[in-house]
Amino acid sequence: MNITNSSNCSYPVHSPYPGGVLNVQINSALFDENKEGIKVGQGLHLVCRSGFKNVNLISPIPLSSKKIQLDIVLNNKIIESIPVINKEYRESRITITDNDMVSPPKEVLPRIKLEASIIKAAKNINSFSNYFVLPMKMPTKGIESSEFGVRRFINGAPRNRHTGLDIAAPEGADVYAPLDGVVLLSEEFFYRGNIIYIDHGNGLISSFSHLQKSLVKKNRKVKAGDLIGKVGKTGRVTGPHLHWEVSILGTTVDPKLFLRAIN
Ligand SMILES: [Zn+2]
Repeated sequence: MNITNSSNCSYPVHSPYPGGVLNVQINSALFDENKEGIKVGQGLHLVCRSGFKNVNLISPIPLSSKKIQLDIVLNNKIIESIPVINKEYRESRITITDNDMVSPPKEVLPRIKLEASIIKAAKNINSFSNYFVLPMKMPTKGIESSEFGVRRFINGAPRNRHTGLDIAAPEGADVYAPLDGVVLLSEEFFYRGNIIYIDHGNGLISSFSHLQKSLVKKNRKVKAGDLIGKVGKTGRVTGPHLHWEVSILGTTVDPKLFLRAIN
């Protein structure tokens, strides 16, 4: 479990629904005496400290979660129960004419499998950082074209939920790091095209897909606002846009919860 300091522990915004996060403040005295005996929500959490009196417990809620309440348990006693709100996510139906992108040819399957395992490993990296500077900055200027959590159908068949925020922008538009971090991956993948993954520390990872090009290499340190790539339409896409994804402790959640303006 990571304990990190921040000037503002109210990010990510408390949003107790599948695809959101628990962000609950508790008295730090309670926490300090029992820091090994505390369990939050689905099991994984990080601790944000912004002062002496209180700490925030932050825990992601998977999109697939069916729980109706999440408990904060201290030494086997429930100290708080948070009801999980039902959130209706929109349905989206798209048509893709390039059949190789809908049902990839057999020879590409090992590549797709390998890339999925690389992504999974990247999302589960949990490197300690003693300071968080949330909220994040928007990684590109554009129009939000598809929100997080959308139930997608391609050519009529149900597919995975949309696990990022799509921002439509012209090809070649600048993409910036939303927060300080270290580049974990800068590669070309089958579905996601040119990608960048950034480790922001404490289990917080963000990624940028379908780039025209990446301008950063693996292990490069970046600052919030640094230019890292260009918007493109590589991989499985219908037009140029940035697919921005954020995960916390391995679970993908709504990137908007990390931004100052929530709408
Ligand atoms: Zn997307």
